[in-house]
Amino acid sequence: MRTREVAVITPVMPTYARVDLVFARGEGPYLFTEDGDRYLDFGCGIAVTSLGHAHPHLVAALQDQAGLLWHTSNLYRISGQERLAERLVASTFADTVFFGNSGAEAMECAIKMARRYHYHNDHPERFRTITFGGAFHGRTLATIAAGGQAKHLEGFGPAADGFDQVPLHDSNDLRAAITGETAAILIEPVQGEGGIVPVDPQFLKAIRAAADEFGLLVIYDEIQTGVGRTGKLFAHEWAGVAPDIMGVAKALGGGMPIGACLATEKAAVGMVAGTHGSTFGGNPLSTAVGNAVLDVMLADGFMDGVEKKARRLVAEIESVISLHSGVYDHVRGLGMMQGIKCAAPVGDVLAGMARHHVLAVPAGDNVMRFLPPLIIEDEQIDEAVAALDAVGSELSS
Ligand SMILES: *Cc1c(COP(=O)(O)O)cnc(C)c1O
Repeated sequence: MRTREVAVITPVMPTYARVDLVFARGEGPYLFTEDGDRYLDFGCGIAVTSLGHAHPHLVAALQDQAGLLWHTSNLYRISGQERLAERLVASTFADTVFFGNSGAEAMECAIKMARRYHYHNDHPERFRTITFGGAFHGRTLATIAAGGQAKHLEGFGPAADGFDQVPLHDSNDLRAAITGETAAILIEPVQGEGGIVPVDPQFLKAIRAAADEFGLLVIYDEIQTGVGRTGKLFAHEWAGVAPDIMGVAKALGGGMPIGACLATEKAAVGMVAGTHGSTFGGNPLSTAVGNAVLDVMLADGFMDGVEKKARRLVAEIESVISLHSGVYDHVRGLGMMQGIKCAAPVGDVLAGMARHHVLAVPAGDNVMRFLPPLIIEDEQIDEAVAALDAVGSELSS
């Protein structure tokens, strides 16, 4: 061992304010600690384990692939990657897909692609992306600049150039922000980290119209909303307005790290060999599981079932939060992505839920996020809502 000053810092770099719980295994909607304590997982590792823990079809896909081949790099064709791309293309507006390993990387690809599109079309001066107040697009240097949140930018030097932020839901501000340097407009169909703020479908239409009028590309960040979370495969299907480029990650691998940037042929025109890359992106392991996730989600009736269960969840939440107006204010969201705007501090509410063995996730604007697995049954909805009721009583007394 090397000699050194005694370190106070933890071996794991302390960039997270973690809850003091360690889980040893998971089964469907439940997590178990090493001591065998059971928790209902209404956070899904932030909208990732959308098919629950240890889903037999996903486990089998991973185990089968693990014995065959893990990684070859993108120097070679990868059959699982080609299959996943074909299925995403068949299920969406997109013609082509780039694979990375995370949400931020999917958004980096989206932003680069929009710039490259205009470069290819002899407008290299068009490189700026318009984003919206309350946005979150990741933690890389470009994506913190895109998100524009002071708390994410502070201390990391000048924000990367090329991003202009306007308030959400104001078409006049949006149109006024478009200049001869604008390349694209980037939006989450439901803001996640910002506090579960569903974007008005009319505003998505206004974005599409402005983009078409000025020759800009529309980019959706569906990293949190995508892959079934809202009761459709992608949230923008509710509004019926398609983007040119879309970032996807979180639930796509059900817990295997994978991200994807989907695009139309037109938008991807500049992305020729050598323009972008990722060593791990779309490797045989992650795409085997991505394909297994789609096997389940694309099955007949799966999404309809999610939508039905989500309606029940919202109705039950509404009936309970109205009883505790000093603790809860209202619920908002889309499908299985629901935010409970709290009147009490959200940290106290989350701690209360954890005491009742229900895990949820905080978001901006004093909101508690419910992101349950899409496979939950009525019984688990009742269980979470009973905890919500109990915490409401406890915090108001
Ligand atoms: C989580 C998230 C990201 C970033 O994804 P990472 O995998 O953490 O890089 C980007 N955009 C949205 C909307 C997200 O929810």
